[in-house]
Amino acid sequence: MQKVYLMTPGPTPVPDDIRLAEAKPIIHHRTKEFVEIFERATEDLKSIFKTQNIVLTFLSSGTGAMEGAVVNMLSPGDKALCIMGGKFGERWGEICQAYGIEVIPLNVEWGDYARPEDVEKILDQHRDIKAVFTTLCETSTGTLFPIKEYGEIIRGRENTLLIVDAISGLGACDIRTDEWSVDICVSGSQKGLMLPPGLAFASVSGKAWKFAETSKCPKYYFDFKKQGKALEKKSPTAYTPGVSLVVALNKALSILKEEGIDNTLERHAKLARATREAVRLLGLTLFSKNPANAVTAINVPPGIDGGALKNTLDKKYGIKVAGGQAQLKGKIIRIAHLGYMGEFDVITAISALELSLKDLGYEVSLGKGVAKAMEILK
Ligand SMILES: *Cc1c(COP(=O)(O)O)cnc(C)c1O
Repeated sequence: MQKVYLMTPGPTPVPDDIRLAEAKPIIHHRTKEFVEIFERATEDLKSIFKTQNIVLTFLSSGTGAMEGAVVNMLSPGDKALCIMGGKFGERWGEICQAYGIEVIPLNVEWGDYARPEDVEKILDQHRDIKAVFTTLCETSTGTLFPIKEYGEIIRGRENTLLIVDAISGLGACDIRTDEWSVDICVSGSQKGLMLPPGLAFASVSGKAWKFAETSKCPKYYFDFKKQGKALEKKSPTAYTPGVSLVVALNKALSILKEEGIDNTLERHAKLARATREAVRLLGLTLFSKNPANAVTAINVPPGIDGGALKNTLDKKYGIKVAGGQAQLKGKIIRIAHLGYMGEFDVITAISALELSLKDLGYEVSLGKGVAKAMEILK
């Protein structure tokens, strides 16, 4: 018998109350009962996104809402600046290319983030860029991007939108959609919101709705205007919503509301700090130059096989962490402290990391990192 601990940056563990909410008998979606549930969820989502804008809900993984953001705002031939410093930044570029958008890439080294002045320089060079696509927390590198600073640059430019992938960031890293002038903020259910995969969200600003009027990319299910109209008419979605997931979402949002979004962010900040400090004390280094509070990316130390480390954590100790993606495969491991996570999850992860490193021949005095984590968490 082995107890399993899911510590990946999505999907994340789902609390029992939320799983039970999802298990309730199906109700029909064109009923007053469901419309009320849906509207409450939509309202509560706004407070997590820190926005007064409409938040649309789709039945897809997070990438669906990313695709929706591209196809509803732009037309083939339009120019977009895609900030790329990891797998998910690159995804924006791939989606744009799939729809014939001309991509101006801003490539940063993986583990780093784009400097606001570099964003500004490109926008000044290409006055016709219609949208800047970026990522709040680049999950593949564990890096936080300075959305507030990007917002200050884009705010005054009437012909340019700021579109942010906050799929792993929402609920762990602060995102102030309205205050930071984020036109579209995209997220998904299976990360900070503590739900199973299957729902995607997009907040849409007034400025973004104007872009939707002229966009000529093909679209059908992810048509924001159609979904927005349905929400207005209390329909509440154009097509069958993920009824059970929405009921579960309502439960998740009531749990988060009770904690208070800023307390939720503070909890993540503390768990992240404890993880980072413990790891450093073990003589390991962090991969990211600007670590996000959702996930910690750790460099696999020289002489240790990254695949073997991930495997030992998994097979011997039941700790599911993520490895590196693409060129980082075998080079980093990523421990999430995202969503339904508390002090003892971090302590468990650090102790298993110590044991696994020791098993693989790395010099470690057992309990050293754990003691540091406890000191920070107490
Ligand atoms: C998980 C994740 C995605 C992808 O979401 P899916 O739900 O797998 O489509 C996109 N961006 C970031 C930053 C993520 O962490």
